[in-house]
Amino acid sequence: MIPHQPFSSDMYSTQYDNDEYLQQPDKPEEACGVFGIHAPGENVAKLTYFGLFAIQHRGQESAGIATFEGDQVRLHKDMGLVSQVFNEEILTEMPGNMAVGHTRYSTTGSSHLANAQPVVVETRLGPLALAHNGNLVNTPQLREDLLRRNCNFVTTTDSELIALAIGEEVDRGKDWLEAAISSFHRCTGAFSLVIGTPQGLMGVRDPHGIRPLVIGTLDDAPQRYVLASETCALDIIGAKYLRDVEPGELVWINNAGMASFHWSKKPERKLCIFEMIYFARPDSVVHDETLYSYRLRLGHQLAKESLVDADIVIAVPDSGVPAAIGFSRASGIPYGEGLIKNRYVGRTFIQPTQSMREAGIRMKLNTLKDVLGGKRVILVDDSIVRGTTSRKIIKALRDAGAAEVHMRVSSPPVTHPCFYGLDTDSQSHLIAATKSVSQIAKQIGVDSLAYLSWEGMMQATGENSNSFCSACFTGNYPIALPEVLKRSKLMLEEVKV
Ligand code: SF4
Repeated sequence: MIPHQPFSSDMYSTQYDNDEYLQQPDKPEEACGVFGIHAPGENVAKLTYFGLFAIQHRGQESAGIATFEGDQVRLHKDMGLVSQVFNEEILTEMPGNMAVGHTRYSTTGSSHLANAQPVVVETRLGPLALAHNGNLVNTPQLREDLLRRNCNFVTTTDSELIALAIGEEVDRGKDWLEAAISSFHRCTGAFSLVIGTPQGLMGVRDPHGIRPLVIGTLDDAPQRYVLASETCALDIIGAKYLRDVEPGELVWINNAGMASFHWSKKPERKLCIFEMIYFARPDSVVHDETLYSYRLRLGHQLAKESLVDADIVIAVPDSGVPAAIGFSRASGIPYGEGLIKNRYVGRTFIQPTQSMREAGIRMKLNTLKDVLGGKRVILVDDSIVRGTTSRKIIKALRDAGAAEVHMRVSSPPVTHPCFYGLDTDSQSHLIAATKSVSQIAKQIGVDSLAYLSWEGMMQATGENSNSFCSACFTGNYPIALPEVLKRSKLMLEEVKV
């Protein structure tokens, strides 16, 4: 039985395909978005709303905000998009100087309201509100450990375990910072956290910094800081990017300003390369440039590696667009639009007709027949995960009259699943885990298929390749995985950990 996958607006698969397998999304699902603000005198609930709005792409199942006014915490969270969960009236009833926000896609714990975040836990020093992006790989041990210490769980998430661990350390007599740091030492895996307490706001990254977390300032006042998964959430509220929270760093923000604590003895930068290729918004800045620029370079490199004679370069919208433009610029083959995306597709409970089912992807994407007719087309996408959508898109291009379809992918073949907070499906469902490039080409129905090399992808970052996690392309997982976890998603004995 294939596990249920919730709807995401970035799903390319239709909601109504007969084949249950084909209902799965064909891209890795985003993990979560986190946001935090400490800004006395500002409407922090409203600023958090807009911050979450900017990082909605990171999680569309549920949204939540917790505001702090002294010792009082107000929490509102629900299933749905940020714009569905909040309105003016709700935000008006959430006063405070500090807020924590979260948009969620479930990677641990199923998709229901109890698992929505922020997680709020009562402690000896007052309430704690925690928002988590990432995934722990030692959840069972941490759960057992907390059970032994008589902690009660309300949810099935690893995020609640982190909050409970901190609360439990506080209740033993530690202050917030001591409690948080000793809890983080008990956590293994990926965690970018924003944590609100009555005494201050924390921003934390795990020692590998797998998921991003940035710091911004609202103005020059020393205590008005913003924390967010991506810089696009700073831009929307007019905050200025200051710097990243470093791997293994905790920043503590209160009325006295911001203090930094390097709590891990062995930080090792391993930012998720998929954030760069696909997850994060193209207008977000990583390593001093927008990801749009990085993705242009991926396309440029792709053209250098796998040029083919053709009339037009088109993208799978929207995520393939920058690489397609880069490919076009490098090759001299004109870029054009051949696929139009319906941006308003949401979940529908009305069953489509049989003829609609046969139309395949057209709920989501439609072809421009007069652009494609008789043309030799290069189709650029950022990744192929399961291959089911690629097959449908290519059929649609041929139906629209394309004479040839050559697919170029601006990342290497995805051969391994992710355990660090992104849902890339189990290994047996990843098309490149079991098939060669020529077999994939045959299966998806293209005239030719080429992926970007791992070296090309890494070179385009302009950084040391050791400073990224690229395990879904290599199987080299930077954080050791317990055997039981490996068995849950991997099908091979030859896992390199
Ligand atoms: S395994 Fe892949 S998706 Fe997961 S953190 Fe590493 S690079 Fe990112």
